[in-house]
Amino acid sequence: MEDDHGMRRSVEELRQTFKSGKTRGVDWRKSQLRAILRLIEENKDNLYQLLQSELGKHPVESYRDEIGIVKKSVDLALSCIDQWMSPKKGWLPLLFLPASRKLLSEPLGVVLIIGSWNFPISLILDPLIGAISAGNTVVLKPSELAPNCSSFLAKLLRVYLDSKAIKVIEGGREVSNQLLQYKWDKIFFTGSVKVGKLVMAAAANHLTPVTLELGGKCPAIFDSLPNADIKVATKRVASGKWGACCGQACIGVDYMLVEQKFATTLIEELKKTIKTFYGDDVRNLKNMSKIINKFHFDRLRNLLEDPAVANCIVYGGSFDEKNLIIEPTILLDPPLDAEIMNEEIFGPLLPIITLDNIKESIEFINSKSKPLALYAFTKNENFKKQILTETSSGSVTFNDTMIQFACDDLPFGGVGQSGFGRYHGKYSFDAFSHEKAVLERSFYFELDPRHPPWNNYKLEFLRLAYNYDYVGLVLLLLGLKKPLSS
Ligand code: NAD
Repeated sequence: MEDDHGMRRSVEELRQTFKSGKTRGVDWRKSQLRAILRLIEENKDNLYQLLQSELGKHPVESYRDEIGIVKKSVDLALSCIDQWMSPKKGWLPLLFLPASRKLLSEPLGVVLIIGSWNFPISLILDPLIGAISAGNTVVLKPSELAPNCSSFLAKLLRVYLDSKAIKVIEGGREVSNQLLQYKWDKIFFTGSVKVGKLVMAAAANHLTPVTLELGGKCPAIFDSLPNADIKVATKRVASGKWGACCGQACIGVDYMLVEQKFATTLIEELKKTIKTFYGDDVRNLKNMSKIINKFHFDRLRNLLEDPAVANCIVYGGSFDEKNLIIEPTILLDPPLDAEIMNEEIFGPLLPIITLDNIKESIEFINSKSKPLALYAFTKNENFKKQILTETSSGSVTFNDTMIQFACDDLPFGGVGQSGFGRYHGKYSFDAFSHEKAVLERSFYFELDPRHPPWNNYKLEFLRLAYNYDYVGLVLLLLGLKKPLSS
């Protein structure tokens, strides 16, 4: 961990590097992107091992959510960066011609990226790809809760990437807090709502723009049986609940909503799916990640300790404290005022809430903060339309879970309490760029009506020009149209 003095020196060095203009060139950007690919490729065995030991991630999960995601993002950035950087030309009103205009993407400067622990590699490297593509210098602060992944990044980024432009500063909340005191040109934060508020307050001191990638409770609606294929749906829900870091995912399914009459069938099908995916014995959950640490293990156990909640367990509920494993657990209708229904669960506990009519799910969702992701399993087009128009969320996915994260053409980000700003693909480039409006006029054709002294002719000229009434303008100029009085 660096002391405060080292931090200041690091930030100053990054500012000097940015000022030198080195990071603006496309060659530098591409060389750094290629270096990330090399880093991943040459150290992937080490990475698989780290993710397995730190989070219990199976290599398939590690490839899908971390290594593969990062490689895919670099490949896309390398193939699109020239186009992303190219100025975007456009039209101007006739009134200002002859002139040209363009939108020029410029880097923001020195940026800070703070990550969380659940996807400790991709949630740091994915935003970094955006920051480099856009030509910034960067400080990365990985989460202290995945310390081995954090030190992997600190050691290797220094070796593979330009250390005068990209630095990793390790540490926990104190270091994070110290970093937040500096003036940044952008802060990109992934983490909880609580810390997101602190980040935004610190950023306000310097009027620094922020992207907040936060969390919350993501619901999954299961429509009536004829309207949803239950076998496919339960597999996809199970994947979105237990299949990504054991439910410790910001866009994992937090709870389900279903009509009362279909609840038993849904639960039975979920149980079958869990057994197919993971077998019977909680200690043999080789295909599921573990809980990150004892604190979060106890937090999840406490959620179930409330007797009113414990009574609602219909499947699972066992804990292996030594290995920090919690069995996939299903609860039916826990009290709505219980903590489990009011905090983000971030673990393998799945409450199922029953409703008389599935349309009530909309009111239920709207009674809570706007979620990062909303899932609905339905073939009913009217219901889909109603969900889209009557609810608000970072994203909506019909008939699947989580896969929106891997689609580069879809922006990833929240709304309301689930955060703001977005990234992935071109959106990552935009998140770290300022699109500068550039207008260039020629010295020819100086238009008198723009300048005082004012009269009715000039007013009429401007009225016609602002209404794009070019026929009227020509008539006015030829003296065939009289100006109206003001
Ligand atoms: P967290 O907010 O506790 O920590 C995130 C980062 O902030 C860490 O690097 C940590 O060191 C730092 N931090 C912690 N306390 C701080 C403080 N007081 N001041 C300054 N910095 C501080 O979150 P977490 O436990 O790492 O992650 C879980 C949360 O993140 C969940 O709410 C989850 O939904 C959310 N999340 C969101 C996304 C997304 O893309 N939207 C992705 C992953 C996780």
